[in-house]
Amino acid sequence: VNSKLPQTGTTIFTVMSALSAETGAINLSQGFPDYDCSPELVGMVNKAMQNGHNQYAPMAGLMSLREQIAAKTERLYGANYNPDTEITITAGGTQAIFTAISAVINPTDEVIIFEPAYDCYAPAIKLMGGLVKSLALDPPDYRIPWDMVKRLISARTKMIILNTPQNPTGTILTKADIDELTAIVRNQDIFILSDEVYEHLVYDGETHHSMARYPELRERSFIAVSFGKLFHNTGWKMGYCLAPAYLMQEFRKIHQYLVFSVNTPMQVAIAEYLKDESVYLSLSSFFQQKRDHFREGLSGTRFKLLPCQGSYFQCVSYQGLTDEKDTDLAVRITKEFGVASIPVSAFYTKATDHQILRFCFAKRQETLDKAVDRLLKF
Ligand code: GLN
Repeated sequence: VNSKLPQTGTTIFTVMSALSAETGAINLSQGFPDYDCSPELVGMVNKAMQNGHNQYAPMAGLMSLREQIAAKTERLYGANYNPDTEITITAGGTQAIFTAISAVINPTDEVIIFEPAYDCYAPAIKLMGGLVKSLALDPPDYRIPWDMVKRLISARTKMIILNTPQNPTGTILTKADIDELTAIVRNQDIFILSDEVYEHLVYDGETHHSMARYPELRERSFIAVSFGKLFHNTGWKMGYCLAPAYLMQEFRKIHQYLVFSVNTPMQVAIAEYLKDESVYLSLSSFFQQKRDHFREGLSGTRFKLLPCQGSYFQCVSYQGLTDEKDTDLAVRITKEFGVASIPVSAFYTKATDHQILRFCFAKRQETLDKAVDRLLKF
């Protein structure tokens, strides 16, 4: 077959999770919790199914859930999204991202991404015939060099993709970044896709600068959000997209033929569960404790810790310890030391290896301790 994505292999998350399972390693590679989600929430799904909520949900999602999302977005970011026209329930963050890209990107349109970048952006852009304009960020701080962004902008620039908190680096956008971004897109026909799936995982009292907070950005943004990170159930594949009505209209044209709608009983349950705002307000301290514990453990190893301001990923550098490529070392540490990680080179479209590995800390404390014990031997 004449491949539509000749450069694309199997996603690193599948590769490393498979190797981890095969070798019986502790899996700190693909990001997902190793503890269960709330039994109360599971009970609500069961009840919804028993109560006969087993047929198609409306194409854009259950209105009760969209109303809860509107309330949450207003409470957190002071933004009003119309549940009727500006919120769509998706099968996870990835579907929201793919659908948003396919809704607006035409052949030869340019899309700016910041690398290391989550691995699903570039293939979606290329599939639409778009051109990936990647800007590499420098470790350890991975700040966006806005003067270089300005130089990358052309008449063909159609979209800028942002990810805050960022996967894999754990960096977050600051108010200064927001100001720079606003100045760049002002009076330009540039859309923003903001991947905010880790919106609640921001630490040390810092603010999550959602595009929803800023009217000038909100009016041109698709915002992708994930319930899997919020409820510790990544396997449910539930999320949503926020966008102004004129963009959401285009989004839904694709959504309706990609998935039509998302499973009903989980929407019923989440709409009910989301009424309790402590569910999302408590998330940051829950994960900050894990981050701090894991960082403390890792500080005894030979790895050098990179900063982690958000997300549930901790990056470490092994520069000076070995010359191995990060892909090779990730495999070797999985096999020889029993801890799986993600090599950060997987997040670049142009070969780049800063000798950095990413570990997921959405794990029970005993799992993190066991992993640290093993990494101490490296
Ligand atoms: N977002 C998860 C991660 O970064 C992976 C999700 C997936 O495998 N699609 O680890």
